[in-house]
Amino acid sequence: MGELSELFVPERIAVVGATEREGSVGRAIMENLVDDFEGDVVPVNPKYDEVFGLPAVSGVGDSDADLAVVVVPPHIAVDVVENAGEAGISNVVVITAGFGETGTEGATREQELTAVAEEYDMNLVGPNSLGIMSTPKGMNATFGPENATEGSMSFMSQSGAFITAVLDWANDQGIGFKDVVSLGNKAVLDEADFVDTWGDDEDTDVIIGYLEGIDAGREFIDTARDVTKDTPIVLVKSGRTDAGAQAASSHTGTIAGSDKAYEAGLEQAGVIRAESVQGLFDAARVLENQPLPENDDIAVITNAGGPGVMTTDAVGDSRLSMAEFTDETLDTFSETLPEEGNIFNPVDIVGDADNERFREALDVALADENVGAALVLSCPTAVLDYAQLAEDTVELQEKHDKPVAACFMGGERVTSAAEVLTDAGIPNYFDPARAVGGLDSLARYRDISRRQYDDPVEFDVDRERARDILASVEDRDDTRLGVEAMDLLDAYGIDTPTGDIVDAPAAALEVAEEIDGDVVMKIVSPDILHKSDIGGVKVGVENENVYDAYEDLITRARNYQPDANIIGVQVQEMVDLDSGVETIVGTNKDPQFGPLLMFGLGGIFVEVLEDTTFRVAPVSESEATEMTEEIDSAPLLRGARGREPVDVEGVSETIQRLSQLVTDFPAILELDINPLVATPDGVKAVDVRLTVDPDQL
Ligand code: ADP
Ligand code: MG
Repeated sequence: MGELSELFVPERIAVVGATEREGSVGRAIMENLVDDFEGDVVPVNPKYDEVFGLPAVSGVGDSDADLAVVVVPPHIAVDVVENAGEAGISNVVVITAGFGETGTEGATREQELTAVAEEYDMNLVGPNSLGIMSTPKGMNATFGPENATEGSMSFMSQSGAFITAVLDWANDQGIGFKDVVSLGNKAVLDEADFVDTWGDDEDTDVIIGYLEGIDAGREFIDTARDVTKDTPIVLVKSGRTDAGAQAASSHTGTIAGSDKAYEAGLEQAGVIRAESVQGLFDAARVLENQPLPENDDIAVITNAGGPGVMTTDAVGDSRLSMAEFTDETLDTFSETLPEEGNIFNPVDIVGDADNERFREALDVALADENVGAALVLSCPTAVLDYAQLAEDTVELQEKHDKPVAACFMGGERVTSAAEVLTDAGIPNYFDPARAVGGLDSLARYRDISRRQYDDPVEFDVDRERARDILASVEDRDDTRLGVEAMDLLDAYGIDTPTGDIVDAPAAALEVAEEIDGDVVMKIVSPDILHKSDIGGVKVGVENENVYDAYEDLITRARNYQPDANIIGVQVQEMVDLDSGVETIVGTNKDPQFGPLLMFGLGGIFVEVLEDTTFRVAPVSESEATEMTEEIDSAPLLRGARGREPVDVEGVSETIQRLSQLVTDFPAILELDINPLVATPDGVKAVDVRLTVDPDQL
């Protein structure tokens, strides 16, 4: 494929299907291109000699173009693209709809299109795309009603309609773009390709996007990680498919759903995920215009007490904190501010504050080394000139080169001041929470840009043995395995209690006698997924009770399901739960991101508590450790209320070993280790359950 960046700098564009017919897409594209494009436009249409006064050619092969925009009917679109390929045109935008989005016939057509693009090594956007834009060349190769103004955000969207809406609004807001791409059906080029290209584009400062799905999740993560070192990516992701969750038989599968994969995957990719369109542009605008804060502590300067408290609340909800000023700053504030004010953060300079007092206070706060960013919060008063305050704010932001957010409250009165602020890249908001949100995004991106990604550790494991255990499902109707697959964990170096599975009471006693102290006995049957639900787990069994316990377990299983396939009873060493914490480590498959890892508080209440966190596999050591740190119950692991801390490193290592196992064996569809008991002395997987797809072995 030629460089994808070439897509945005064509010299000569062929519009295949160009026409002057009123209300047609071919006309709309011609109009948009003829207006501003700083290059040649060649209409392609055998029916006309000229279109909008430009000489037409009858086939794309005669156009001598370096970009073809295709708006012909669907049944000839693939041929047109092939002709373009034969003519050596490697950049193609297929506007035509009627492909994968329309059913079987369309899906076949889309496959043909992809095959042609591959054969000729083409950069192909679409099909079913609104088109593309690139403002430096004045290129609007879309059929939308609105052109973008020049700016430094590049924007991709899976919805063409959303692009037209955004452009209409953005033009109003003074927001400009470098490139805009309507991804359409993503038959060839997808979000990862554009993220990659814009990451290398000097004129793109921020990448933004609206996505309904990500096709190749892991590839996207790896591409985005590279890009976000220098260029922030902010995305809105909509649309959730829970099909995977419904089919799941593991806890991990039930809790995961597919949005958990996106949440984890986008976070791992270093993407800032916006919850709304407003959030998308709030974040993108500050990232485009403001410097990154050196720390997370912000100063709030205000002439209004109430909004000051609201702002403090908003800061509390964010990753930011209220800055503690240096003594020097506090001294200056005590000397210069009225007594009834507040020299601590939020700094209340009182309702009678004039522009001079506002300016001085902001200057002093921004000069404080403890302050990473500032928020100017004001309510209109008779002694305050908003326009002047806006100019002072802009000047001081530049002087100190720290990020500043503005919250000039009011209506009509604010309009001209807000314009001054916006022109200088300081968006003004009525709502303090949005202003804080902007600063929060900056702090978040600063952390992302400094991230170091380490490679996953490779443990020495017994892969062959693991494969044999997984292959054991080939001999049975059931593809689920329970504790009979305990050795799978052992093969990957995950510690399990000593014990064995037996099929007679005498054998059970033999195993129990080998084990120090009391034992745990469990029914082993692929038909009994949750053993304790039917009383199938007996904890603290003394040797003299092993016989009875054995018989009782079998009876319970028979009562529960007379034709259950009972493999036997597992006799297992007791793990000290008193000093330990029951955790869960699991995995399931996401259709886009592949194996997803879950860690959380385990035991029999896992689905009730849902204290869990996710990552796309494979994970590095630091990612696994982060997982142990970010569940709500993390303090339990680290020794809450006088308890001894458990072996958190062992937990992290187990997550990594499981990560390696599921990466090595795509045949593992889902797997739960629940509980993985973590004690001060180590970790032990006392229960396992998994589903295997023998066809993928
Ligand atoms: P299931 O999840 O199918 O009900 P488990 O094997 O997870 O069966 O056992 C249920 C509960 O019994 C565990 O959450 C744990 O509290 C306890 N338990 C199971 N095995 C042991 C063991 N070896 N030592 C101590 N407690 C255990
Ligand atoms: Mg269990």
